[in-house]
Amino acid sequence: MKRVVMLKLAVALFLSVATSSIEKVGRGAGLEAHQNTDEELIISDSNHWDTTSLGGSILNQEQSPFLQPPDSSPNASPGSNGPWTHDPICTEYRPALNSTLCVYTDTTFNNGRGISIFTTPEIASQIADTISSLKAAEPLSIQAKTHPWTTIPVPNKGIGVIATEPLSRGDLVSSFHPYLVLHTENILSTTDEREKFLRLAISQLPKSSQEQFYDLAKMFDDERLVAQDVVKSNGFNLDVGGVVHVAVFPEASRFNHACDPNAQYYLTPDTLSHTIHATRPIQPNEEITISYTTPFRSYAQRQEYLKTAYDFTCSCSRCQKGEEADEPLHEINRIQSILGDWIPRDPSTSTESSAPSVRLAEQLIRLYQSLGLEGWLDYAYGNAALMYNSIGSIRGAKKYAHLAAESAKLRYGPESGDVAAWKTFEGDTQGHWSWMIRKSRPI
Ligand SMILES: [Zn+2]
Repeated sequence: MKRVVMLKLAVALFLSVATSSIEKVGRGAGLEAHQNTDEELIISDSNHWDTTSLGGSILNQEQSPFLQPPDSSPNASPGSNGPWTHDPICTEYRPALNSTLCVYTDTTFNNGRGISIFTTPEIASQIADTISSLKAAEPLSIQAKTHPWTTIPVPNKGIGVIATEPLSRGDLVSSFHPYLVLHTENILSTTDEREKFLRLAISQLPKSSQEQFYDLAKMFDDERLVAQDVVKSNGFNLDVGGVVHVAVFPEASRFNHACDPNAQYYLTPDTLSHTIHATRPIQPNEEITISYTTPFRSYAQRQEYLKTAYDFTCSCSRCQKGEEADEPLHEINRIQSILGDWIPRDPSTSTESSAPSVRLAEQLIRLYQSLGLEGWLDYAYGNAALMYNSIGSIRGAKKYAHLAAESAKLRYGPESGDVAAWKTFEGDTQGHWSWMIRKSRPI
């Protein structure tokens, strides 16, 4: 299974348009250059934790009798400076990591909700700095805010989140800190050892946080591996110190999946936060959903992934249409290939439907919207911005660059390189390589 790569459009080369798989559709309208590249760009379009991380399937591991917590001992406690309220407890030295892995806990973080980390001392030191700066900031807790939603039982989905007031595109739905951040190591000798350290990390949290953790959704009915089960079912990828970690945000875990979600999320390692915004109007009592995987997969691919990774069958409105709803994906792929083809061709060989045009660019936007993919519109808007710019329409280029920046903010966060790149483009469309590049060609 592939690992999430936080690849930013603004720093990427222009994506090769020869993307053969639907999975690759979601990204690629780069701004920096227009040459194609063979670089493998797309891994997963979701930050939801890839459940093959952290030691593979827990059910395939050899299991032992009920697990005991690790000794609180022996191995040195590097990194004991910092905000930690407990002495770090570490594994033995691991040559593969050239480090130990240790549990660090600060029970005072986030208005007493606490946070436990299981990572290397080096990365823990970085997280300690982040925690200290977050504590110094006001307000201390982002989740102290009132939220426009509540959790209720949802048929066939367990707990879900419904809106308590009308929401518009761009409205903030939630923003949270995790209480558990784990290195996605794959080197602990046994699943038992991993489970012990996870349980230790959880046991050092305040009691209410412990109860909340074990109350989260689980996939496997196996008490011996319950800590890993909750992490697998609820974790999100979070890149810390250049290493993929998995973080558990208890509130964020309550948002159910849909392949046509009405909300989009991003993670911000610098602030240890998970943020969700509405991507289209949401009415009171309507469920708020996010996507756990790239929505550009086919119906069959999505169902297979969700069943394997999260053990459920999706019955969202898009899935209810089954494979019938895959056709727009093929059309999206086709149009993106055309719009991304910057190699000049003989006009006499181009037909209206195979030549890049603003008509196709706007059709692409409508296709995204028809599939409920408003959370990914930065890519469609970006294509439109480049298309308009390529025929010398400053107004069109600016309009869609502005929309692309707004969309990128919902998908990657306001500080992302994508947002900055689209704003730069909007400010100087004529300085971009795409300016007038298709002017001499039929459109
Ligand atoms: Zn679905």
